[in-house]
Amino acid sequence: MAFSLGSIGFAFEFLNYFNPMFRLMDGVNIFVPICVLLVARGVCLRYTGNAPTRLLLFILAVADLTACWINFVHQNAFGRGLSISVGIVLLLSTGIWAILKTRTRDKIDLGILVALMSAAILVLGRPVLSFFIEGAPKIGVIEDTSFWAVSLKVAGLYSLLVLAILFMLRIAADLFAELNQQSITDSLSGLLNRRGFFAAAEAVALQATPTLPISVLLLDIDHFKKVNDSYGHQTGDKVIQTIAGLMQASVPDNAVVGRLGGEEFGIFLPNTGSMAALAFAESLRASIHLQYHACVPATHPITVSIGLSEGTGENLELLLHLADIGLYNAKDSGRDQVRMAGSEVLGRDGRRRPGKLVLSGS
Ligand code: GH3
Ligand code: MG
Ligand code: MG
Repeated sequence: MAFSLGSIGFAFEFLNYFNPMFRLMDGVNIFVPICVLLVARGVCLRYTGNAPTRLLLFILAVADLTACWINFVHQNAFGRGLSISVGIVLLLSTGIWAILKTRTRDKIDLGILVALMSAAILVLGRPVLSFFIEGAPKIGVIEDTSFWAVSLKVAGLYSLLVLAILFMLRIAADLFAELNQQSITDSLSGLLNRRGFFAAAEAVALQATPTLPISVLLLDIDHFKKVNDSYGHQTGDKVIQTIAGLMQASVPDNAVVGRLGGEEFGIFLPNTGSMAALAFAESLRASIHLQYHACVPATHPITVSIGLSEGTGENLELLLHLADIGLYNAKDSGRDQVRMAGSEVLGRDGRRRPGKLVLSGS
């Protein structure tokens, strides 16, 4: 909308070449400031989440009223142009301020910043430079059409054009990032989905200290079908959300949490040995057991079984497979417990013991 209005404004300039009548309406001075107001509003909205619409309208109104007053009362085209230019620069400055306030800026953001700044410099530079080069304009002269004035006007127009292209690029990049985020996020729990979990775990594994172990937990809600059957699917969904929130809140900063499907979750713990992972898994299991679930009576505690595996991270699939065996064992042994796959398991005292052992739980 902004750039459509801007192009209408510049069309007046062009049509004036064929018919001086278009100058009387002075479309440039009407449409271009509104175009800039909408651009500044869009930039503020994108970079700060807020649109200072009232401030922008106030700037536009003051600039326009001053321009009208100078034009009709003093018949001074230079003063009129100057007040419109100052208004445009102030509008652009709100956008510049919004981007400067943003901490993380990529190349597109920097491009938009430069385009906004150059548009502001060129818009204000035109009247200022023509004043110094051509001298004070005479009353009644419609506009400075010197080489400098026209060149700066064209350059200012190009800055706005570059800004329009960059802003489209920004919108496209934002949409792409949002779609990408959606494709790796589970909409119910807000956690990473299976695809996102694998991608994030692999990225974290690359940065993990190679000499330190990696642990993987696989967590499955016990008798979840009964929850759905007894209290409804919506309550089941809420239970999934509550457990996901609890997991997200309790994992260490460098951990990766995902909903791998249905009521099954994965936790990837870099730089963590099985002892520490066991302690964490056990505390998570206990806290889920104690968690209050709306719509589910306290007489029906929601419990989870957790399978645990430890490795070096070069094969996440294998670690998940081992954790799955641990999970299967936990289910098989009565649920609501943590189990580690393999012939060696860890006891509560941290010693490795042969055979399958219930590590914790009921
Ligand atoms: P177990 O203790 O052996 O894990 O038993 P279970 O009943 O939890 O396991 P099962 O795999 O038989 O059932 C899982 C159920 O989870 C079946 C399915 O209806 C339910 N489920 C899967 N995804 C969702 C979901 O997004 N929302 C809800 N409410 N239920 C789901
Ligand atoms: Mg289950
Ligand atoms: Mg399951």
